[in-house]
Amino acid sequence: MTKELGIGLIGTGFMGKAHAFAYRAALAAFPDIPVPRLEMIADVDHGIASTAAKQYGFARATTDWRALVSDRGIDVVSITTPNVFHKEMALAAIAAGKHVHCEKPLSPSLAHSLIMVEAAEKAGVATQVGFNYIKNPLLKMVRDMVAAGELGEITGFRGIHAEDYMHDPESPYSWRIDPAGGPGVIADLGSHIIGMARFLLGPIAEVSADVRTVVKSRPVAKGAAERKDVWVDDVARILVNFGRGCGGTIEANWIATGRKMQLGFELTGEKGSLVFTQERLNELLLYKAGGDAKTSGYVKIEAGPQHQPYGQFCIAGGHQLGFNDLKTIEMGEFLRAIGEGAKAGPDFREAYEIQKVVEAAIASSTARGWMAVG
Ligand code: NAD
Repeated sequence: MTKELGIGLIGTGFMGKAHAFAYRAALAAFPDIPVPRLEMIADVDHGIASTAAKQYGFARATTDWRALVSDRGIDVVSITTPNVFHKEMALAAIAAGKHVHCEKPLSPSLAHSLIMVEAAEKAGVATQVGFNYIKNPLLKMVRDMVAAGELGEITGFRGIHAEDYMHDPESPYSWRIDPAGGPGVIADLGSHIIGMARFLLGPIAEVSADVRTVVKSRPVAKGAAERKDVWVDDVARILVNFGRGCGGTIEANWIATGRKMQLGFELTGEKGSLVFTQERLNELLLYKAGGDAKTSGYVKIEAGPQHQPYGQFCIAGGHQLGFNDLKTIEMGEFLRAIGEGAKAGPDFREAYEIQKVVEAAIASSTARGWMAVG
C-alpha cells in the first residue's frame, strides 16, 4: 500500500473548496488510507490561489495548472474547473502519470469524454468522477436491498434532480449556460440522477425525452441591460426503460422555484418501496407490502453507525452526515483504491456511460421519439 499521496487541486470555487475539505478530513474518517499530502493549488488569479492554499492548508499555490499536473510531488490531481477545461487538464495529468479526480460532467462532448476514458485506461491510472451523492451510506443499503431482492421485482423508478439556481431570468449568463460547456441542466443536474438510477438499478437501455429551454435570454453580466440568447436546456423530462426490464421517469430542472436540492427518487417493487431525497439525506422511507392494513405504512429509517461508513464520522445515530461528509467518503474511497492499486468508482468509464444517457435523451427530444442508449 502506498503510504502517502501528494494532492494537487485545480480550481478553488464551490467544488474546489469541497475537495479541499474532503482531502483534509479523509484521514480522520479513514485511518487505513494513504496520507493525503496537500501539495499545491492552482487557480487563474494568484491572490485567489495563494489565499486558498493558506486557508485549506496546501503547501504551494500557482496560476499555472500545467505546472501543477507535471509537478513531481503530486500523485493525484483534482479537477474542479468549469466543464470546458476538464479534457485538456485531465489528459495532461494522465500523460504525466497522475491519478485523476474530475468533477462531473466529464466533458461537454461525448466524443471528448471517450478520449479521456481511453487515455486513462491505457495509462492505467485511477480515475474518479464527482458523483458524490451516491456515496450516501443509505443509498449503498438501497442498492444492496435491491440486489438481494428485498423489494421483489422492481416495478418502477421515479427520479428527480430539481433546484432553482437558474429560475430568475435575471441570473446572468455564465459558463453553465454557454453551450461550449455542454448541454444545460440535463448534464449539470441530470447526470447526478441518471448516475443514481444506474447505481441502484443498472443500465438504462432506452429513453424518450422532452428537453426545453424556458428562459430564452439572460443578461450578459449581473445587472446588465444587454442580453444574450440561451440555447441550453432548463428542464429535461425523460421516460426511461432500464435494461433489467422496469420503466421509470427522470426529471432534471434548474428553474424549479423554491427547490434547493430535490435530488431523490421513489423506487417501487413488488414487495415494497423506498423513498429518498437529498433534502433529508439522513433518512430513508421504507414501505413493506403485506403487513396489517391498519398499521402498515412508510417507516422512517434514520442513518447511524449501522450504515457504514457513517460510524467513521460519528458514533451516534441521528447526529447526521452532511454534503461535505459525502465528499469525504468519495475521496477516502479514491485514495484507498489508489493505495491498493484497485479500481475506484464511479470512474471515467461510468461517467461516460452516464453521459451516453444524457446524449440519447437530447437526441430523442430532437427526434420526438424513443432512442436507444449508446
Ligand atoms: P466555480 O465557478 O465555483 O469554480 C470554478 C473554479 O475554477 C474557479 O475558482 C475558477 O477561477 C477556476 N478556474 C477556471 N479556469 C481555470 C484555469 N484555467 N485554471 C485554474 N483554475 C481555473 O464552479 P463549481 O461550481 O465549483 O463547478 C466546477 C465543476 O464542478 C463543474 O464541472 C461542475 O459541473 C462541478 N460541480 C459538481 C458538483 C457536485 O455535486 N459534484 C456541484 C457543483 C459543481
